Amino acid sequence: MDIFNKIQKNKGPLGQYKELAHGYFTFPKLEGEIGPRMIFKGKEVLNWSLNNYIGLANHPEVRKADADAAAKYGMAYPMGARMMSGQTKYHEELETKLAKHVGKEAGYLLNYGYQGMVSIIDSLCDRKDVIVYDSDSHASIMDGLRLHIGKRYVFPHNNIENLKKQLGRATKLAEKTGGGIVVITEGVFGMVGDLGKLVEIVALKKKFNFRLVVDDAHGYGTMGATGAGTGEHFGVQDEIDVYFSTFAKSMAGIGAFVAANKDVIDYLAYNMRSQIYAKSLPMPMVIGALKRLDMLLSMPELRENLWKIVNALQKGLVEKGFNIGESGSPVTPVILEGGVAEATNIVHDLRENYSLFCSMVVYPVIPKGMILLRLIPTTDHSLEDVKVTIEAFTEVAQKLKDGKYSKENLASVEVED
Ligand code: PMP
Repeated sequence: MDIFNKIQKNKGPLGQYKELAHGYFTFPKLEGEIGPRMIFKGKEVLNWSLNNYIGLANHPEVRKADADAAAKYGMAYPMGARMMSGQTKYHEELETKLAKHVGKEAGYLLNYGYQGMVSIIDSLCDRKDVIVYDSDSHASIMDGLRLHIGKRYVFPHNNIENLKKQLGRATKLAEKTGGGIVVITEGVFGMVGDLGKLVEIVALKKKFNFRLVVDDAHGYGTMGATGAGTGEHFGVQDEIDVYFSTFAKSMAGIGAFVAANKDVIDYLAYNMRSQIYAKSLPMPMVIGALKRLDMLLSMPELRENLWKIVNALQKGLVEKGFNIGESGSPVTPVILEGGVAEATNIVHDLRENYSLFCSMVVYPVIPKGMILLRLIPTTDHSLEDVKVTIEAFTEVAQKLKDGKYSKENLASVEVED
């Protein structure tokens, strides 16, 4: 059979919605300068959907650093993978500075967080090793696990009692195979903003012998006194053996990094296939990241203002009776009850009649009957933006209660071919 026939019939769990959703709910085009106000379908919207937490994406100094580096080096330099011909002093400088910030001996750049995490897991663990991981882990962790030919045990999200049980099983198995144990979790769970239970997990090191890998994609730059992440926030950074974050969020760029003891980083640099067999990060991204890091470190007011907005938004929503889950980070979920039809009608109403743009998550990503609207506050939002948004959400929640969104009206949404 022709493989292409199969994909005509089965377009995949998300692809099945393309006809109804493309260009509106999925693949929407946000135009204009990155920030709280962008253009969607020709109209200005108040935008709560970007992880530009500390406002670096469009900061004039960042834009200048990016442009100057692009003018000086172009986008091609350096050619080749780091190991072969893609090494520069700027790559090394960025690694040293990032590692210092997160309190580790050494760091290494990753071209994308996704590939980097897959490769960290792949290179660290062989068939004798056992991986114990949180059930709500990001796809990059899950896909790293798919490469792991040894055993893995999952613990239900943030369930420390169950983690102990899995560690008990892992310990027994590792004794037999002669392998080691790695626990993988996240600092901030990006979908609903709750924090990994790092203090409790680290405490288990007294009883069990394992190494801890933390994906802190949403935590770096937002959490902790200096923005060094969720480990810093909880005071357990030293106990994180492999710290990972991406430049896709607070650092507002592309790329990622991993930080650990020097011998671990040396090992990763010589063994991560996603880096050995892929071209080095381009110079404007590296020099641009140095500028972003410098600002992240020297302008705490960016993070302070972010938290002012986060606290006002989360407090305001809770006061109005909204369920925002267990968020302990800037990620602010608004959890409502309803199906896909209600969810799409709500988002349509928010975008068209309230000029509010946020992301929506429905089944099968979250349980049936649940709607999750995700708000990402940034340092560039204002308290007025917060007020307007809470008012809009309050009206929308009332309409949902009154059954106004229950009729399917997707036909009124113009989607692109
Ligand atoms: N881990 C988490 C928790 C993420 O949210 C993301 C998405 N940015 C990644 C890893 C992958 O990072 P990147 O976008 O740099 O590939």
